[in-house]
This record gives sequence, structure tokens and C-alpha cells, in this order.
Amino acid sequence: MLGRSPSTPDDGNLPCVECDRRIPRTRFVDGKVACPWCQTLQDDAGGQVVVSPLPVGASHPKVTQRTEGPEQVYVTRQGSWFGWFWLAFTTLHCGFMFFGLAQGTVRVNGQVVTHPSVWHFLGLAAFYSIFFAVGFAFTLSRYTVRLSDNLATVRYRLFPFVGWTWRLVVGETIRVALAYRGARENNNAVNAVVLVSDGQEISFGSFLAKDVKAYLASAIDAFYNGAAGESADFIPKP
Ligand SMILES: [Zn+2]
Repeated sequence: MLGRSPSTPDDGNLPCVECDRRIPRTRFVDGKVACPWCQTLQDDAGGQVVVSPLPVGASHPKVTQRTEGPEQVYVTRQGSWFGWFWLAFTTLHCGFMFFGLAQGTVRVNGQVVTHPSVWHFLGLAAFYSIFFAVGFAFTLSRYTVRLSDNLATVRYRLFPFVGWTWRLVVGETIRVALAYRGARENNNAVNAVVLVSDGQEISFGSFLAKDVKAYLASAIDAFYNGAAGESADFIPKP
């Protein structure tokens, strides 16, 4: 199932976590290497990308950032092309159906409805709301990452008040990395942003854009560990 699991026979090289090409073990220095083909920094502990430090004052066009007292807050939307395509198609399809219903050319339960009642329209609206919800999940849903000295909170919201929240109590040390946590996209493993402290772990954002994940990981690392970016050394495998 996991093509890049460390249990594959060790023939002296390791697959790149990004491009899957085989990197010779001899290229690793202190357990770390930059892929010779795609330059992705990674370690030999089983496929995690080493977080690189952000330049001072760096920002990302898809991530808004603000300071609230002692807290640092980052917000980013999911925003995928698939989601926008889905929403556009649903809107178009829905429009045609409502138009057709109003014109008396749409079949409901096998019968042409010549005089549609308000219930026909409500039924149609309920049907399409499911498809719109999926579309919004892939486009307008957002992650809010809130960092304070002793607590990291990640909120995923599909709509206001609908979604998930992950919390991690931050102890003496916190480690940040990009690592595989079970999510796949087009049959390829995708990395999540992973935070570990005192043996507790949270991970999020597998389906965010790659550069957004890298930016968030670096920003979180910088908040807790300074610009050194050394925290990605080792994260235990799940
Ligand atoms: Zn590579």
C-alpha cells in the first residue's frame, strides 16, 4: 500500500519523498539530503520533508497572517481548481434544472411536472445543496492556525461553525515537519503538516497546495524554534 515505506528492501538507496526517484544512501549527510533531481530536503527516517527556515519577513500570497496579542494567526483557504470546476458545473446544472422546472420540461419521479409547486423547487434546492456543500469544501473551506506559547490550535472550517479543530499543548520542545499521514491524491501519497510535542501529535492540511504547506510548516517552526529551522530532525513514525 505504502510504496515508499521504509520496509522496502534496502538496496542502498531511498526513494525521494517528492519525486520518487532513488537517492543513493551515500548522498545523505547526517541523515539528510537534498534530492539531486527535485532539490527537496528530506531525511532518511522514512519520508519526511525537512522544514526549511523562512527568510525574515517572508509572506505567502495564499496565507494571511496577523498578530493577536501574544498569538500569531495564519489563515488559508483550500482553493483547488477541482473545487472551482465542481462549483461552476453544479451552478450551471442547477440553473438549467430550475429553468426547466419553471418551463415545465423537467421530469420528477418519471412524470413531467407542468405546474411545479414550491415543493418541487424546494426539493430541487435540497438535492443541489449537497453538491454545493462538496464544492464549498474544496474551495471556500479554510484552515486557521493559531499559535501561542503553550498551545497550537488548528481549525478547519467548511462553513462557519462546521468543521474540525485540533489542539496541541506545546511542551519544552515542538517539532514541525511535512510527513505522510495517510492521505493520497491521484494515488500519490501527499504530506501533511505535522506538529509533535511531548509525545502528542497533530497533523493537518494534506490537501493544501504544496507551497502553502511548506510555508505554514516553516512559519510554525519559526514561531516556536526561531529561524534555525532545526526542529524537523526526527518525528516518530505513526
Ligand atoms: Zn526528488
